[in-house]
Amino acid sequence: MNHSKLPDTPTTIFTEMSQLALDYNAINLGQGFPDFMMSKELIELVNNAMLDGHNQYTHTDGLRLLREKLAQKAEKLYRANINPSTQITITPGGTYAIYTALTSMLKKNDEVIVFEPAYDSYIPNIIINNAKPVPVQLQYPDYSIPWDEVKNKITAKTKAIIINSPHNPTGMVLSENDIEQLKTIVANTNIIIVSDEVYEHLIFDNIAHQSILRYPELLERSFVCFSFGKTYNCTGWKIGYCISSSALMKEFRKVHQFNCFSCNSFVQYALAEFLDNEDAYLSLGNFIQHKRDYFQNLMQQTKFTPLPSHGSYFQCYSYKDFSDENDKALAIRLTKEVGVTTIPLSSFYQSKKDDKVLRFCFAKKEETLRQAAERLQNL
Ligand code: GLN
Repeated sequence: MNHSKLPDTPTTIFTEMSQLALDYNAINLGQGFPDFMMSKELIELVNNAMLDGHNQYTHTDGLRLLREKLAQKAEKLYRANINPSTQITITPGGTYAIYTALTSMLKKNDEVIVFEPAYDSYIPNIIINNAKPVPVQLQYPDYSIPWDEVKNKITAKTKAIIINSPHNPTGMVLSENDIEQLKTIVANTNIIIVSDEVYEHLIFDNIAHQSILRYPELLERSFVCFSFGKTYNCTGWKIGYCISSSALMKEFRKVHQFNCFSCNSFVQYALAEFLDNEDAYLSLGNFIQHKRDYFQNLMQQTKFTPLPSHGSYFQCYSYKDFSDENDKALAIRLTKEVGVTTIPLSSFYQSKKDDKVLRFCFAKKEETLRQAAERLQNL
């Protein structure tokens, strides 16, 4: 008897490629995580919180002080008026927040518009809720949204649209015009928006992040998901949060309280204090942009062709000019034979569409990026 609810879902490509990198001692530019040290000040704050005795459950919605600080931050950055009691919940990471948002509202046969390439959790999250993913492909090579096609795919069953900016895996960012299009499409419907904004501060070239928090009329129908791991270079801490309307958050919390209940306490105390340091998050975009440029410069000495990246940890590179190998086969071969691990873009398409593109994570020490590029130059 087959009890699987996700019979076609493999182990996530991030785990698969990170394990392969370990097995072959390759430089891991696959899974998105920094290899440099995070803030020692934040680590000390966590240490102190534990020593101060903050080691028991916090409120299921998250530590009140942390939610207040996040509401202030949203006010300052996006002029959003957020009620910390009813509109913010602290979660064990951004991926969890997205899953909880979808699970709290999806019913059997609901349709969800998903842009592909899509972060690999979205579609299984939809399927496990007996709902139906409706993929719309972003337009290669700038991965812009074909809004006319989105319009055509909206039906009476469309329950939600998932958006993600800065975008994983491509580094595409949504413009004001994209938000206008989205507004028009959802006006006079009950469509809910799940907005994955985990790379909110990882945005380059002086582009302003088009957070849903800027648009009260959209926030009314949205779950907006964030990640402290990305903001503070500590992806292994697995802590994030969701902001939504009070009505939607009520449903979110019904699911959250019986899944995670509450996130680890000491990290929340530390984050509440560290949020006073604006520079820690406002300087991140420039810091990571420098890495994108450094790596892109080195990659000019290789046969790869860069695709645009304006945000996130990632830049995609095309290899179609020098190979017609399948992207996954190439990613595996590069790990085993060249010693550099990447993520094949086909993993982010339900159809495994292969445009001959690999995703590179450049959130690494310069030394790591230099060594990886040197290996790729010999290809
Ligand atoms: N968001 C990270 C990435 O895209 C990985 C997260 C994960 O491994 N679950 O690489």
